[in-house]
Amino acid sequence: GEHLLEVEDLHVEFRTRDGVAKVLNGVSYHVDAGETLAVLGESGSGKSVTAQTIMGILDIPPGAVTGGSIRYRGEDLLAASDNRRRELRGESMAMIFQDALSALNPVYTVGFQIAEQLRLRRGMSRKDATKKAVELLDQVKIPNAKQRVKEFPHQFSGGMRQRAMIAMSLALDPDLLIADEPTTALDVTVQAQIMDLLDELRRERGMGLILITHDLGVVAEVADRIVVMYAGRIVESSDAYSLYKQPGHPYTEGLMRSIPRLDLKGQELETIKGLPPNLLAVPPGCPFHPRCPRAEERCGTEVPEYHQLGLGRISACHFAEEMMSRG
Ligand code: SF4
Ligand code: MG
Repeated sequence: GEHLLEVEDLHVEFRTRDGVAKVLNGVSYHVDAGETLAVLGESGSGKSVTAQTIMGILDIPPGAVTGGSIRYRGEDLLAASDNRRRELRGESMAMIFQDALSALNPVYTVGFQIAEQLRLRRGMSRKDATKKAVELLDQVKIPNAKQRVKEFPHQFSGGMRQRAMIAMSLALDPDLLIADEPTTALDVTVQAQIMDLLDELRRERGMGLILITHDLGVVAEVADRIVVMYAGRIVESSDAYSLYKQPGHPYTEGLMRSIPRLDLKGQELETIKGLPPNLLAVPPGCPFHPRCPRAEERCGTEVPEYHQLGLGRISACHFAEEMMSRG
């Protein structure tokens, strides 16, 4: 059947003074209504660029889509007019960010900002729009919403501001919500509360939810499926259960080892050694090979193809099957 959102073989390039950086090299994923897809990877892996391209907010130039397609309920977004994309933003798809302060205007009250969208795009009266703003703050569990709707963003704590941004993103009832590192700036307890809230809203509204994060631990409780990105490619794609049980790619394995564990206080976290590649000079063969503890000689020359590891599960590693059988 038709997916809510389907990204297929997406290629994006950035033209820089030093050359052309291939920031997306054939990214494919999909999300259905009522489902949570987590997109994992370090910064520079292309996870935010993919989201910005879906939303139609990628800076052009220097970014240019050079191939592939994005379909929303079957509609080809890359062929849609700017007006159509603007219409879809908010109404059909919305995005929230790590930094709520950059999304909220400091000089207007939170309530005014939510109400303004409803007045402009739904033609609601000021009174009805404000009433709806209070309802939305209630839905994202901001206590005392009637009062808080009159306050300014700086009067909110970090977690409450994140909730206010979520409320604003839901004002026009989108069916797809993309959350880009929504909890990265928050402490662990608040992180979990925001994840619970997003999960609940996804369920109640039947929305598709894309959670972008560098932290596999944060999405463990909520993700249905996971795609792992590295150097502008998908290196593993799996249902969440199978991936947590046994990663199918050495990079995923590294991400798993760097999840802080509550039962091991004072532990030294294993992080993946080295840095993600410069996209102007991606290593030949497997792009992960300079950092990969399982690398063998062929990894430096042969680009790994996708290996099928089970129903809907793929890995771009020469030794994916061996990993699965040997652990
Ligand atoms: Fe590591 Fe080689 Fe697999 Fe790449 S193909 S992830 S370098 S083992
Ligand atoms: Mg990012």
